[in-house]
Amino acid sequence: MVKKETLLISLAAMCHDVGKFVQGCFDVPKDWIENNQSLYQPVYKGRYSHAHALYSVAFFEFNKGNFPDVLFSSELGEDNFLNLVGMHHKPETPKQWIIAVADRLSSGLDRDEFLEGQEIPVKQFKSTRLVPIFEQISIEEKKEFSSMSDFNWCYPLDTISSRSIFPKLKEEIVRDLEDYERLYEKFIKAIKILAHKDHDLFLWMQHFDSIFRKYTSFIPAARVGKVIPDVSLYDHSRTTASIATALYLFHKNSGSLDEKNIKGDGEKFLIIAGDFFGIQKFIFARGGEEAHHRSKLLRGRSFVVSLFCELACEMICDKLGLSPYSVLLNSAGKFYILAPNLPECIDKVKAIEEKINTWLIKMSYGETNLGLSFTRAKVSDFTAKRFSHLWQSVQQNIQEKKFNPFDPKHSCGVFSSYLDEFRNDLESPLCPLCGKRPSSEKVEGDKLIYPEGEGSSCIFCRDHIMLGTNLVKSDKIAVIQKSEDISFYKLNKRILEPIFGEYIVAFVKDEMNELAKKGVLKRFWSIRLQDGEIPEKICYLPLNGYVPTYSEKDMHDERLLLGRKSEKTALSLIDAIKEKEPKTFSHIALSSLEKDSTGKWLGVDSLGILKADVDDLGLIFGCGLPESRFTISRLYALSTQLNYFFSLYIPFILEKEEKFNDVYTVFAGGDDLFLIGAWNRIIELSLYLQKKFSEYVCKNNEIHFSAGITMVKSNVPIDIISTQAEQSLEKAKDAGKNCIFIFEQIVKWKYFEKLLSEKNKLYELIDKNIISKSMLYKLNEIVKMSESELKILEQDSSYTLKDISVLKWRSFLTYLSARNLRVQQKSELDDILIYLVKNIQKYRGNFKIPLWILLYSLRVYK
Ligand SMILES: [Zn+2]
Repeated sequence: MVKKETLLISLAAMCHDVGKFVQGCFDVPKDWIENNQSLYQPVYKGRYSHAHALYSVAFFEFNKGNFPDVLFSSELGEDNFLNLVGMHHKPETPKQWIIAVADRLSSGLDRDEFLEGQEIPVKQFKSTRLVPIFEQISIEEKKEFSSMSDFNWCYPLDTISSRSIFPKLKEEIVRDLEDYERLYEKFIKAIKILAHKDHDLFLWMQHFDSIFRKYTSFIPAARVGKVIPDVSLYDHSRTTASIATALYLFHKNSGSLDEKNIKGDGEKFLIIAGDFFGIQKFIFARGGEEAHHRSKLLRGRSFVVSLFCELACEMICDKLGLSPYSVLLNSAGKFYILAPNLPECIDKVKAIEEKINTWLIKMSYGETNLGLSFTRAKVSDFTAKRFSHLWQSVQQNIQEKKFNPFDPKHSCGVFSSYLDEFRNDLESPLCPLCGKRPSSEKVEGDKLIYPEGEGSSCIFCRDHIMLGTNLVKSDKIAVIQKSEDISFYKLNKRILEPIFGEYIVAFVKDEMNELAKKGVLKRFWSIRLQDGEIPEKICYLPLNGYVPTYSEKDMHDERLLLGRKSEKTALSLIDAIKEKEPKTFSHIALSSLEKDSTGKWLGVDSLGILKADVDDLGLIFGCGLPESRFTISRLYALSTQLNYFFSLYIPFILEKEEKFNDVYTVFAGGDDLFLIGAWNRIIELSLYLQKKFSEYVCKNNEIHFSAGITMVKSNVPIDIISTQAEQSLEKAKDAGKNCIFIFEQIVKWKYFEKLLSEKNKLYELIDKNIISKSMLYKLNEIVKMSESELKILEQDSSYTLKDISVLKWRSFLTYLSARNLRVQQKSELDDILIYLVKNIQKYRGNFKIPLWILLYSLRVYK
C-alpha cells in the first residue's frame, strides 16, 4: 500500500510549476496576493521574484472543489499540500526541501543553460514556444544550438493529439496572447470531470496525470532568460515528481529527513529497469491455429504483453510504496522505475520478479520472462554531464540481465505436472489454439470461441481471444486486484486467469465507483482516441493499436467471398459483420484485389508484413545530445515523443485514411512497428510513414527508420511470418539503414519513392496498351541481366564467357521493344526505349520493384 503522505509529496512535486501555465488565466483577489507573496516568493533585488510559485498555490486555493478533499485536510499542518506546492523557491521544512531539490535535479541542477545569444525577455514569456529536441539531435557532427535563431521548428501551444504532435516551421506558428487562457479554460473543465476524485487518491492521480500531460506537453518549462525552451512543463514536472518521491522515501526510511542530509550527495536512488524477454516468441507462438481466430489471438497476445508491463509497474509501485509518477518510462516491453536506494527495496523487487516469472512459466513454458535490473545512483549522477554516464550504466545492466535471465532453479522440475493437467474427457485435451497448453474444463465450449458451444481451449488462449475481440469494441478497461470483495461484481467481459495471479482485467461500461472506494480498482483506462483527440475523464492508455473490423459495407464486398464459397463460411461472415469483429487475415489479404474495366478481379490475395524500427536508437540516446544537455527531463521528453509517433499517430492515420483502413496493428509503440495489411496497401503505407516520420523529427536526416516488407499468403503460420519479417528488417539494417527491404532488394527511401513513381509511369504505358503484361515478364529478365552486368563490372575478375552474355541486355531490350511495343510512330518507340535503358541502367536490380508490383497487381485473380 502506498502511504497518503508519499502521494501528496509526489502530486505537489508534479504541480509545483503549474503557475507557469495558469498565471494570468484566472482572477486572483489582490488582497490574497498581498497576503501570500511574502510566504511563497523569494525577494531578489528588493522585489518579489518567481511569481509562478504563488500562482501554483492560487490555482489550488481557488479551485479546491475540483480536487480531492484529502489534499486540503487540516491535519497536515505546516506541510499542507499548498505549502508543498508553493515553497519550492523558499523551502523551510524537510518535505519542502525535498521538492526544491527534486526540481533542480530534474533539470540537471543547472536551471539556466546559458545561451550565447541574447536572452528571452520576461515580457515574452507567453509567446515563447516549445522547440523540438529532435532538431538538436546529432550523432555525427555536433550541431550548435546555442541561440534561439539556430532553431527552425517549434510546436504550437496546444493539447497533445494525433494531429498536434508534429512540429511546425517557426514562421508558420501563430502566437495569440489568448492561447494560454483558451488552453486553461479547457484544462479546468477537464479536471472538473475527472473520475474517482474522492474515492482513491492513487487512481485519481493517474487520471490527473493523463490530463496534465495532455494540456502541458507543449508549454515550455522555462520561458525567459538565457534558456533553451526545449523541455515541456509536463516533462519537467513528471520527472520532478518521480525524483521527489524516491528522495522522500529514502530520507524518511533511513532516518535522515532533515535539510542538511536532503541537500547532501549520496547514493539515494535505485533505478529499476524491467525488460520482458522473448516477447516476439510469445506473441507469434504457433499452435494448432484455428484460422479465423488468428487475428484476434495475435491482437490479444500483443495487448497482454503491454499489460504485463503496466501491471509489473503497478506491483512494484504498490509493494515499494511508490507513486504512479515513479514510473519514468514504459513502452515496447521495457520500463524504468525510480525508487529509493534502500536494502528492503531490492529484496521486495526480487520477490516480485520471482512471483511474476513463476506465473509466466505456467503461461508460456519459458518462452517469455521478466528481467529486472538495478542501478544505484547518486544525487550528483543527475547533474548534466554525468547523467549520460548513469544512463549508460542502466543500459549495460539491462544487457547483462539479458544474458543471465533465468534463476537456474526454474529450469528444472517446473513442467513435472504438465502431463497430469490433461483431461481426456474434453473434446480436445490439448488446446487447439496454442497447441501447447492443456485445455481447461472451465472454458469447454466457450461461446466466445465456439458459437455452437462445442470445442476446447486453454484458459490463456480463451483470455487472449477475449481481449483481442473486445479491444476493438470497448472504450474502457479496468484492472481489479483479485479479492473476495469483487465476486459480487458482475463482470461479463473479463479474463478468467488473473495476470500474475493478482490482476483481473475486464472491459466495463460504468465507472466502478464501489470498487474504487474499496481500493481494489488499480487501473482504469480509456483506450480509444476520439478522432485523434485524447479522451478525458479517466486515464488514457495508448495501447489499443488499430485493428480493421467488419462493417456494413463489407456485406456488399464480393471480394470477401471469393475463393470460399461454402454456405457456412458465408453465414459466419454475416455474423462477424454484425458483431463488428476483427477481420480475418484472409479477408485482409483479399482486400488487395481491384476490379478492371471488364469486371474481372485483378491481383494476388497476399498479405504484406511491415516491420520497422528507428535506426541507431542507442546512439541517439547515448550521444545525440551534447553531454551538458542530456538531463533526465530531456531523456524523458525524447523517449515519450518517439513513442507518440508510433502509439498516437499511427493508429489514428490507419483509422482515418480510407486506403489504410484494412491495415492491422500487431504492435506500434516505443520505436517500433509491426503491421499486417493487403500487400499493395502496405507498400504505399511504408513510404507514407517514412515521409511523415521525417516531418515529425524536423527533417533531421540523422533520425530515420528502416523497414522490411514481406509478402505472404494469409494461411502462412504466424511464427514464420514473424521470422521472415524480422529477417527482412535485418537485411535493411545490414545494408546501412535508412533503407527498405522488399522483393529481395534493398533501397534507400529516396530511391524507393522514385521507383514507385516509375511504377506509375509504366502503368500508364500498360493502360494505353503500349506495353503488354507479357512484355513485363520479359523486362524482368532484362533487369536481371543488367543486375548481373553490374556485378561483373564491380568485381572485374572471375567470370566466364557465359557470364558475359548478360552484357548484351541493351541490344536484347532494343530487339524486344521493336517487336513488342505497340506504338504508332518510330519516335515514340525511341522515347520509351531510352526511358527503359536509362532507368534499368540507373536502378539495376531495384527496377524489379516497380515491375513486380505491376506483375502482381495485374494478374487475373482465380
Ligand atoms: Zn491454448
